[in-house]
Amino acid sequence: MSHVLILGTGGTIAGTASDPGRSWAYRAAQLSVEQLVDAVPELAACALATRQVAQIDSKDMGWVTWQALGQAIEGAMADEATSAIVITHGTDTLEETACLLHALHDGRKPIVLTAAMRPATAPDADGPANLVQAVQLAQAAAQRGEGGVAVALAGQAWSARDVRKAHSHAIDAFDGGGAAPLQGHDPWPQPEARGWHGLRHAQPPRVEVVTSHADADGWLVDAALAHAQASGSKLDGLIVACTGHGTMHEKLEAALQRARDAGVLVWRSSRVARGGVQPRDGDAWPAAGAWTPAQARVRLLLELLSARR
Ligand code: ASP
Repeated sequence: MSHVLILGTGGTIAGTASDPGRSWAYRAAQLSVEQLVDAVPELAACALATRQVAQIDSKDMGWVTWQALGQAIEGAMADEATSAIVITHGTDTLEETACLLHALHDGRKPIVLTAAMRPATAPDADGPANLVQAVQLAQAAAQRGEGGVAVALAGQAWSARDVRKAHSHAIDAFDGGGAAPLQGHDPWPQPEARGWHGLRHAQPPRVEVVTSHADADGWLVDAALAHAQASGSKLDGLIVACTGHGTMHEKLEAALQRARDAGVLVWRSSRVARGGVQPRDGDAWPAAGAWTPAQARVRLLLELLSARR
């Protein structure tokens, strides 16, 4: 009989507080994924397997954990006994991992990410219901041959392509940046099938995010360029979290021109919650589309990696 594989990475869903009445004072990533599953009676009858891939607060997410996750997913894709994958994750960087998986996955099996805004010990813990929702969504998707990447939280499902954290503490903290949630048996957006090989590079390119704001005069950009030169390291890319629909302070733009002259790839995203920066003919700086600045950083990393090969 086939099973849903649940990959644990930590997050608040696995968090505990010593005083359940003060659940904001908790530590993320304390319970194992096996403990999370065992604590949910609704999952007792489900065919599940678990694997702990990492145990971190997702604010500390990074390349090494993505490599481990990629390896575990590749293994599950090759395992006939696994029909679908659920990933328990922290909410803070969930949109980055989701965007990465949407780019790399080939769509052979469904992958569903889930998380929680309250630790497991809170009286109003949302993790158990979110985990049940994620498993059910993954099972239903596997049954009808769906194979994309989705996110299940607070009773709603989002495509990994659209999802982002939109509230810092509400239980329903996620939205689609203007895109609608997935309904019922709606087909999921096709993932991009770039393959997992990019994750095998020991070192990812260095891509940083800078924000345009009042008095943004490019000081950080020039400092980064000077540091790269002095240390013999390389700044490969910059994402600008622009004002509005992709505008930036003229002084920041001048510094970015210096960065571009030094070989840095620069993309524009928007610091506004919805809409992103749509590409237009004659753009002086490439636009990252609907991606958030953090997601645009993932996309630029992938672009730079494919240029390396
Ligand atoms: N800091 C936590 C994390 O991202 C927040 C959460 O999971 O809600 O791991």
